[in-house]
Amino acid sequence: MNRRQVFGQFIGIATGVVALRRSTIYGQTGVRLTPLNDDLAVVTGAGANLLVHRANDDGLLLIDSGLARENDGVHFVLKNYSTAPVGVLINTHWHPRHTGGNANFGSGGAEIIAHINCLKRLSTTQQLTFPDRIVEPLPPEGLPKRTFVDRGELRHGNDVVRYMHLPPAHTDGDIVVRLANANVYHCGDLFWNRLYPYIDYGSGGSIEGMIANAARILGEVDARTSLIPGHGTVAIKAELQAFHDMLADVNEKVDALLQQGKPLGRIQASRPTARYDEVWGDGRFSGSEFVQMLYSGKRRQVGGKEPLKTSWQIL
Ligand SMILES: [Zn+2]
Repeated sequence: MNRRQVFGQFIGIATGVVALRRSTIYGQTGVRLTPLNDDLAVVTGAGANLLVHRANDDGLLLIDSGLARENDGVHFVLKNYSTAPVGVLINTHWHPRHTGGNANFGSGGAEIIAHINCLKRLSTTQQLTFPDRIVEPLPPEGLPKRTFVDRGELRHGNDVVRYMHLPPAHTDGDIVVRLANANVYHCGDLFWNRLYPYIDYGSGGSIEGMIANAARILGEVDARTSLIPGHGTVAIKAELQAFHDMLADVNEKVDALLQQGKPLGRIQASRPTARYDEVWGDGRFSGSEFVQMLYSGKRRQVGGKEPLKTSWQIL
């Protein structure tokens, strides 16, 4: 075999490996796994964005577990990604779209890691106000067994996984998770890319917290970082900046109208989200619904009890 043939064979093998590792894996129910690099992939269609890291000796590390009803689909794509089971599962916060698969992975042997406030909410009945819904506690096998207050770190395969709690924003138990070597950052529901975000005021959230945490994350990432939002497509720093700027602008406008004593209908009619609706209001919440969420949340903070209605399904 001459040098050219050897080189050709090497390229053939290399491309074969890359094609295998980088191809999207489709599940039956719309769940799909899309590789980011050789060992990292995003799982979409499971109710929220999950991130999975594979390492030969350590099994899979999964960030968030998706809706309970999508668990079969998640298992399907993970099995086709790696024969190893999920060894570690990190929850970014307690919402069912991010923890619905916990019981299944927990009973399969995964160690579940989360912030202490996430465990508190997962282990007791929760009353959501937007939408009005009761969420039952998870069974014991789905509860996080390793909790923390500020931050933690673990080595998984060729990467270092750092998780950190941020002040209340979307809930009171939000964490961000960074894979340091891959330069990939899972923001949980502190970032919704091109979607107006859900803010769980009943769990300690606020738009002011969302704005402050978006600014914190912006200070931690660089132009090459891949940002995984809880919902929406994988993003770069400029898109998180746009999210931050949109929230700050809408919040300022809503606050000004509230200070003038305007009722909800008048605030909605003045369309504080007008310039953003085409990009941000086309997925989950309309601009009008988002304004209602902010209005009701802010009124709730001062003792108000406006009813909250939306088509958004948290379960
Ligand atoms: Zn959430």
